[in-house]
Parts: sequence; C-alpha cells; structure tokens
Amino acid sequence: MKVCKFGGSSLADAVQVAKVCDIVMADPERRLVVVSAPGKRYKGDTKVTDLLIACATKRLAGEPTETALNAVILRYREIQEALGVDAAVMATISANLESILAGSVEHRERFMDAMKASGEDNSARLVAAELQRRGVNAHYQNPGEAGLLLSDEYGNARLLSESYENLALLGQAEDVTVFPGFFGYTREGEVVTFPRGGSDITGSILAAAVKADLYENFTDVDSVCSVDPDLAPDVAPIAEITYREMRELSYAGFGVLHDEAIIPAVHAGIPIRICNTNRPELPGTLIMAEREVVHGTVVGIAGSPGFCTVFASKYLMNREIGFGRRFLQLFEEEGLSFEHMPSGVDNISIILREKELDGATEARIVTHIREELGADSVSVEHGLALVMLVGEGMRFTIGLSRRATAALAEANVNIEMINQGSSEISMMFGVKEVDRIPAMRALYHEFFE
Ligand code: ASP
Repeated sequence: MKVCKFGGSSLADAVQVAKVCDIVMADPERRLVVVSAPGKRYKGDTKVTDLLIACATKRLAGEPTETALNAVILRYREIQEALGVDAAVMATISANLESILAGSVEHRERFMDAMKASGEDNSARLVAAELQRRGVNAHYQNPGEAGLLLSDEYGNARLLSESYENLALLGQAEDVTVFPGFFGYTREGEVVTFPRGGSDITGSILAAAVKADLYENFTDVDSVCSVDPDLAPDVAPIAEITYREMRELSYAGFGVLHDEAIIPAVHAGIPIRICNTNRPELPGTLIMAEREVVHGTVVGIAGSPGFCTVFASKYLMNREIGFGRRFLQLFEEEGLSFEHMPSGVDNISIILREKELDGATEARIVTHIREELGADSVSVEHGLALVMLVGEGMRFTIGLSRRATAALAEANVNIEMINQGSSEISMMFGVKEVDRIPAMRALYHEFFE
C-alpha cells in the first residue's frame, strides 16, 4: 500500500486536481490519499489557507466577512464546475464554512485553527467527489473519526501517540481514502492544526500508521537536486538519498521536505518518494534508510545564511572544570537553542541562528560570560553562513577535505570555521554570508562538474 500526499500547488485548480485523480487511478496501491488546501495557481496568487486566515481575522475583528468568505468558496466552485463534479459537494462546503464562521470566537486560536483546517477538509471532500464521479470507489475521511489525536497547542499541534493504533485501521479500507492534511482533533474534540505546511506531517504519520510500503510526496519539483538549481542549471537530480543525508541537507537550506515532517515515516523506516504531480512519469527522489554508496562521493551541497557566533576565550579554560557547562547554561537560561559548538584549548564558541539573538539578549550574554565566567575576551560575530557538503560516501575517504578546502581557497573564500568529524557524513564550513554562493559554486564545481 502506498500513501500519497499532494501539496497545495497540486490542488490549485481543476487542471491540477484532474492530474491528482489520474495519478491516484494509475496505481491500485495508492489507497490512502492526503490532500492540502488549494494553493497558488500562479505567482502572486493567494493560497486558500491564507484566504481563510484573512476571513477569520475579519471575523475576530468584528468586521464583515462576506467578501472574504466568497473568495474561498469561489476557489472550490471553480474546480467543481470545471470538472463537472456534482454540485451537492459545493452545498456541503459552503455550509461547512458558514457554520465554522458563525461559531464561537471566544477562544481565538481555536477559532482560527478551525477556519484554517477547513481548507484541507473541503479539499478532501472535493477530491473524493471527483474520484467518485470518475467511477472510483473512494470516500472522504474525517481525521477525528479516524482517531488522529493531537495536543491542544493551536497552530503548532503535536501527535498523541495513541493515534497510531487508531489510524492503523485505515490500512484495512479497500477503497481509496481521501484524508485532509494539516489538522487533527484534541482529546476534547476540538480541531487543531499543525504548523504551516503541516500536510506533509499528516502524510508521514499515516504512512507510519498503516506501515505503507512507500510514502509518495507529490509536489511541483521533479526531484531533489544536488545543489540549488539556481546555482547550477544543469544540476543532476538525486535518485536516492538516505534519511540522514536528507536531514543534513535540509538543515542547511534544502527546502523540499521539512525535516521534522518526515520523522514518523523515518522512525517507521518507510521510504519516501518526492515526485512531481506535473510529471508523474519521472522517478523523482527516493529517501530511504540505507542506500548503496560509492566511496568518495558527495550527494549534495547546501548553504544557509543567518547564523552568528558567540566566541569566548579564557586562559587555561581546558583545566577549568565546569566552564563548558556554565557557558551553555547561560544560553539555556535565555531560552536559546544553539546549533554548533566548536572549541579550542582556551576558547569556545557557540553558533546560533541570528533570529534567536536580539540585541538585548546578546548584551546580557556577553556581560554574563565576562563577569560570571571571567572570560578574557568575548565577541559576537554576525552575518555567518553555513555551507555543508553531505554524502554517506564521504566516510573514511582520504583527501576529501583537501579537495574541499582547495576549492574554497581557489574561489577566494575565507573559511571562518570547519566542522568535520562530529557527523560522519558531512563537512560543514562557516563562511561570511557574502561568500555563501561562491563557496557553494566552488564545491559544486569540484565535486560534481
Ligand atoms: N495548507 C496549509 C498551508 O498552507 C498546510 C499545507 O499545505 O501543508 O500551510
């Protein structure tokens, strides 16, 4: 059995919905279909989720909602009419939206989540109706009735583990189940959503729950590429990649699939295929636990701006028991999550995401390091980018770092920091933000061209 998930661009209009149905019908193993809300039809268009947020915001502000509501309904109606789906589905969709909009707004976040979730919910109703019109034995599945239970963190819900047992039953259905992504229900029966883009999480959870043979994630790219195609237009697609490689690359900026979204499928060891709704005949990229690797090969290069370093040095730091713990504690007390911690004999540095560190927090931390830890010097460097070279085949390969650093030197990129060894499958370079693109290009040239 395959679980397939279709993103917003795959459901943006009637032409796209028709492609989704063709894909589902092309393979009898595709029996569990997770759908997003209709997304952007063209650059500059608005996603249905954003139309719903706008509509909910009006209601919360006590303003008229009619125009905003009609904009949402119109998106579904256009699809329904163009495909010739039974108009009854539009009556259901309109009634659903009107009843949520007329509901209580006392709990603002709860109301907002109910509105947002309706985007996926009604999308699933429409897709199920279109499959039925085509003679497919298909049904819409409500996530609450299937037992998808989530924590009551509105807009940021997490899965409650008992859901797996409930959802496993979905694997027994003989017809095609169309399941809305992005939301579930609290134990009290309230609708609650995952963070934005959360339909990927739903797909991954369902794939794990029914122990699918494959989780197919249909989007609008052909595959994952070794480097951002804007940097290298002829870049080759990646045919196979391990979960670990994907995680390191998404950490440093690969945006195809959110790394947290795939956790359930990864834990269950289910292979994930990234494929294109517009070109379903292409093989896409398979993300899996293990793959055959050729020694010395790199699978991808990623780079992400927006990092900073807090650097401290103190003579004889290596002999001072507890320095590292107290240093880290300062960050913990400020509620900061750090990314890396390169260190030397008498110095230690912490790499953070720039967005974590506002001016006031930075000033407090610097003062504490100086006064409480007695550091000889403390400095903060902003505007750092991390560039990663990733590949299972990099393990035990002699000469790879020489090649990488030589390539960076050739491109006149100053390496501010190197981290190799903590991860067996990647090499990380800290460079100035202005050097990020030249560094990625240089590494791509060295390892792929
Ligand atoms: N429709 C939601 C969003 O736009 C969830 C999703 O598409 O995955 O964020």
